[in-house]
Amino acid sequence: MPELPEVETVRRGLAPVMEGQRIALAELRRTGLRWPFPERMAERLTGARVERLRRRSKYILGDLDSGETLLIHLGMSGRMLISGTPLGKFHHEHPAPEKHDHVVLHMESGARVTFNDARRFGAMDLFATGDDAAHMLLAKLGPEPLGNAFNESHLVAAFKGKSAPVKAALLDQHIVAGLGNIYVCEVLHRAGINPQRKAGRIAAAKVAGLVPIIREVLLQAIASGGSSLKDYRQADGELGYFQHTFRVYDREGAPCPTPGCTGTIRRIVQSGRSSFYCPVCQR
Ligand SMILES: [Zn+2]
Repeated sequence: MPELPEVETVRRGLAPVMEGQRIALAELRRTGLRWPFPERMAERLTGARVERLRRRSKYILGDLDSGETLLIHLGMSGRMLISGTPLGKFHHEHPAPEKHDHVVLHMESGARVTFNDARRFGAMDLFATGDDAAHMLLAKLGPEPLGNAFNESHLVAAFKGKSAPVKAALLDQHIVAGLGNIYVCEVLHRAGINPQRKAGRIAAAKVAGLVPIIREVLLQAIASGGSSLKDYRQADGELGYFQHTFRVYDREGAPCPTPGCTGTIRRIVQSGRSSFYCPVCQR
């Protein structure tokens, strides 16, 4: 499932093909994904120019010159493919449509952007530009972890009195937007905090220390996504998935990578999801 760094990588990959470019034709091959597409989506997209491609949490938002914003959510298995891009160095032939190619944006430049989603948990929507805060998927999101509103005092206040485990608190999208299971495991390992600790029982200084660690973990992942982007564009034009080496995620039984630590990575299940942590250096 793509997390924030993967979505940001997709956004950066799409930007040179979409920003400033007009959608010559929007082709819908079905009537919806997780939810039905908005009414007349193809007509509303066709002819519109994408002025800016931005990201909020795990949503890609394209502001159009028609006064509407296109929302793209990759869901569990969504992929974006670029073909025939004449703008970059790499040229990918337009592939024959595949079974799970649900939406194709034919750009005026000749490039094509294809949304492929085998499991169809993804989404596309249109709403009036500027109305982010009223959109059902965006309304309740907390601050962006890489933005200024996410800071030490915000996190300390959000954790105060919380009896939920710190793992759950960091996954709570009201507290911070876009953090998912993988990166929360990585953050807590670097911070030396056991994922089962009650959020409200952790010392304020230690909670404050999570803020720079969250930024560092996400920025490192975005940076490695950026380098993979080049490879993907050279390979087949597909954006969004890249191999990371995680320190604890999916490494049950491996030795803890913390220098000097003799622990072994353990997996537990919290709220139905796997947590990976080191019982020795995460207290
Ligand atoms: Zn350890």
